Amino acid sequence: MRLVLLGPPGAGKGTQAARLAEHFHCAVVATGDIFRSHVSNGTTLGRLAQEYLDRGDLVPDEIVIDMVMQRLSQSDCEKSFVLDGFPRTVAQAEALDTKLAEAESPLAAALFFEISEEELFRRLAGRSAALHRSDDTEQTIRHRLEVFAIKTRPLVDYYERGGLLLRVDAIGAISEITKRILDGLEQRSTST
Ligand code: AMP
Repeated sequence: MRLVLLGPPGAGKGTQAARLAEHFHCAVVATGDIFRSHVSNGTTLGRLAQEYLDRGDLVPDEIVIDMVMQRLSQSDCEKSFVLDGFPRTVAQAEALDTKLAEAESPLAAALFFEISEEELFRRLAGRSAALHRSDDTEQTIRHRLEVFAIKTRPLVDYYERGGLLLRVDAIGAISEITKRILDGLEQRSTST
């Protein structure tokens, strides 16, 4: 099962990515986590990415694409993976499509986590207090939501046109949302 998870920050992608990876016995590739670990280890990539993360801006496409393509070439991603936080731009989605087409291993679906802005603010403010993420201040949260609306939201149409979009109501109990996703994937596989 090859899945991508799309949605604004705070929509619950990370939580569901971990549950889906456990269900499908596959790796999660979470670009935000990879960048944060580079930042805390002080690598060259981390030093490059930090200013973007702190501002809530996207790391430039060529850097992210290169990093994800290398990760997807590892053997644990050969058949299945859950991508959390990638793609975030049309250029990233196109790069992913090209890579998967070469390997004749298409995506099963792109899950779009639908959630209201009020609910997002509530969640992100809670996460800021609990995790002390430097990019969860109110100003950065607003900026990250704008970046999502401008750069990432077009991917909803992109995957809808490709027949891959699965909309997920992202409000509710964690296990209920996982069930909605699994039911939606099941329906897609029986209707194709
Ligand atoms: P996340 O944990 O997914 O919210 O990502 C945290 C930060 O990492 C983002 O605000 C960006 O600065 C950076 N980032 C993560 N994934 C990407 C991506 N696919 N493209 C560009 N920047 C990214």
